[in-house]
Amino acid sequence: MIPFKFEYYKPETLEEAFDLFNDLSLQGKVPVYYGGGTEIITMARANNIHMGAVIDVKGITECCNIEVRDNRLEIGSAVTLSQITESKLFPLLGQTSARIADHTVQCKLTIGGNLCGTIIYRETSLPLLLCDSTAVVFGRNGKREVPFNQIFNEKLVLEPGEILACIIVDSEYCSLPYIHVKKTKNEKIAYPLLTVAAIKKDNQIRVAFSGLCRFPFRSLEIESYINDNTLNNKEKISKIIGSLSDSILSDIEGSSNYRKFVLEKTLKNTIKMLEKV
Ligand SMILES: Cc1cc2nc3c(=O)[nH]c(=O)nc-3n(C[C@H](O)[C@H](O)[C@H](O)COP(=O)(O)OP(=O)(O)OC[C@H]3O[C@@H](n4cnc5c(N)ncnc54)[C@H](O)[C@@H]3O)c2cc1C
Repeated sequence: MIPFKFEYYKPETLEEAFDLFNDLSLQGKVPVYYGGGTEIITMARANNIHMGAVIDVKGITECCNIEVRDNRLEIGSAVTLSQITESKLFPLLGQTSARIADHTVQCKLTIGGNLCGTIIYRETSLPLLLCDSTAVVFGRNGKREVPFNQIFNEKLVLEPGEILACIIVDSEYCSLPYIHVKKTKNEKIAYPLLTVAAIKKDNQIRVAFSGLCRFPFRSLEIESYINDNTLNNKEKISKIIGSLSDSILSDIEGSSNYRKFVLEKTLKNTIKMLEKV
């Protein structure tokens, strides 16, 4: 049970949601946007957040659609991970979503909640970082489209009250060759010890990671080693690990040395497989 009272709103437009957020803030009610609610409910039950109001974004059509229009795939922020997988519109994002929690939970978790939440892994960001996607956000000056690589820095960087409306990906990226590998400590369904997502575009491999450091990331330096034809694969991997060594995570999922070991094996296979296509 949530041990305090809060108000519930379900606006129908982005503007209405943003205005509500501001009005409720001015009244001191500490509003939060609400996607699937899994994190909000869990944190409220544990008394880790105390919101006075939730603004459910699932009443906003733009946040709920997943469709291809003019060769661009639009994914609303309130689209669930299971909808993304079942749509088969973006196989790499679908596979990433299918490895987050179990199927029942995937039917609740939204992509907006995964990107904006506090849990550090934010695995759905990996395909978006690789595929030059765009985030559409609504705030003080109305709607703005921002390259995902600019607005995502360890987490989605939104201004106060700004709402993530949807993500746009050029259709051409959705059919590129890709690899997705998620390694967990014990069970198949768990937080990642290491998740690697990679694509090949214009003969260049792009790669992004979650679980390896304190936040998900794509590194152009790492990609420059991978795509350097003067290096053999052993040299590539050693340079990558050297560049990361100080920031590799050590926690309950695994020590930093173990993560390095898993990274080495996973990268070796990833490079080998994408080199062939
Ligand atoms: C059992 C379980 C296992 C999990 N395993 C993994 C995992 O392996 N890998 C991984 O990456 N994640 C994992 N997660 C994390 C999960 O994806 C996040 O907790 C995510 O926040 C849940 O989505 P939600 O829609 O329920 O979010 P909500 O609880 O609705 O919201 C989370 C946060 O996002 C904000 N928010 C939501 N929508 C918007 C929006 N449109 N605009 C602005 N802010 C918004 C909310 O205000 C809130 O602060 C797991 C979660 C659970 C419950």
